[in-house]
Amino acid sequence: MISLVQLFIAPAYIAPNNLIMDPVSKDYSLKPYNSFHIEANARYYADFSTVDELAELYNRFPQNRKLILGGGTNLLFTKDFDGLVLKNEIKGMELVSEDSQYVYVRAGGGENWHGLVLYSLQRNWQGLENLSLIPGSVGAAPIQNIGAYGVELKDFLYELEAFDTEENKTFEFSVNDCELSYRDSVFKNRYRNRFVILNVTFRLNKIPKFHASYDLLAEELNSMGVEELSAKKISLAVIHIRTSRLPDPAIIGNAGSFFKNPVLSILEYKNLKKINPLAPGFPQTEGFVKLPAAWLIEQCGWKGYRLGDAGCHVNQPLVLVNYGKASGREIFELSEKILASVKAAFGIVLEREVNII
Ligand SMILES: Cc1cc2nc3c(=O)[nH]c(=O)nc-3n(C[C@H](O)[C@H](O)[C@H](O)COP(=O)(O)OP(=O)(O)OC[C@H]3O[C@@H](n4cnc5c(N)ncnc54)[C@H](O)[C@@H]3O)c2cc1C
Repeated sequence: MISLVQLFIAPAYIAPNNLIMDPVSKDYSLKPYNSFHIEANARYYADFSTVDELAELYNRFPQNRKLILGGGTNLLFTKDFDGLVLKNEIKGMELVSEDSQYVYVRAGGGENWHGLVLYSLQRNWQGLENLSLIPGSVGAAPIQNIGAYGVELKDFLYELEAFDTEENKTFEFSVNDCELSYRDSVFKNRYRNRFVILNVTFRLNKIPKFHASYDLLAEELNSMGVEELSAKKISLAVIHIRTSRLPDPAIIGNAGSFFKNPVLSILEYKNLKKINPLAPGFPQTEGFVKLPAAWLIEQCGWKGYRLGDAGCHVNQPLVLVNYGKASGREIFELSEKILASVKAAFGIVLEREVNII
């Protein structure tokens, strides 16, 4: 017989054989859920597709650490997770309103990011094409303000809804509330581990304003013979660049750029140039210069380095890879060595982009 307590603590469904199925699994392998393909187990694992399911799971495990999981493409497990891993499966994409210039499109946090890009391209809504093929979920995109080829999420995010795990309530965040900057947001800082992003609303253009001047993209569009720009052509160019330059995580485990590109003041950059005249730099607003971390790492001799199955990619030194059976610890230790050598050679402290768990 099923006790009332069981019914209340476990949001459950009745299987055909009339047994109550607990939605929470124990000692659950996370290997299929992280793009590094690292062997790690979650003590507890469940997915949620509504805010009520999420709230119930939080209430049921008040004392345990929690980890919200999207596509697992921006994290590195260095050990088993001794807590509850919650996979976001909130789905749905819809047009919520429009005016003469814009459409407002809402997507569930558990939707695949590239799926949303395709959805908008099919409807001729412009804006997300430069962000084509970035792996992962819609709900994780604001966490580090995803960006590529001259565009960042903040250019098109309108607002989002997030569940406050301390107050047990849902709040709306405008784009300003999210405090988005280069691979950063309020959710990585002040509100770290507090909010779960449920859905995101984007403001996309009806009247296109393309961003095609980023060097690599402009070259690719040129070699494709594109004369008249369109969102679809930009998306194709971006897809072509990404598939030809970045290792496919389905084949070689990785989480994209492992480190952020450091941003220096003009004075720091000039001092660096005195000793390293070839140091590349990209001017940012307000007197800052962004330096490619890949260049720093390559100068320190890491490009193509491999120890066991942990390595620094042969073409993209910013991407650390798992060639097969590397542990998260081994990848992490490699990242420590890279950090130390870049600091020793240039006095620059790189920051990891990937979340270390
Ligand atoms: C090959 C490759 C290329 C990449 N290229 C780029 C790129 O060009 N630009 C770029 O910006 N990134 C890039 N990335 C990184 C990654 O795709 C993005 O960071 C993406 O947004 C991660 O999404 P995810 O769902 O996989 O997040 P996960 O890895 O599952 O989670 C990342 C972090 O966000 C938290 N989180 C996830 N979902 C939620 C939620 N709903 N609410 C609250 N917290 C949440 C997690 O707890 C974790 O701390 C690349 C990764 C790979 C593997």
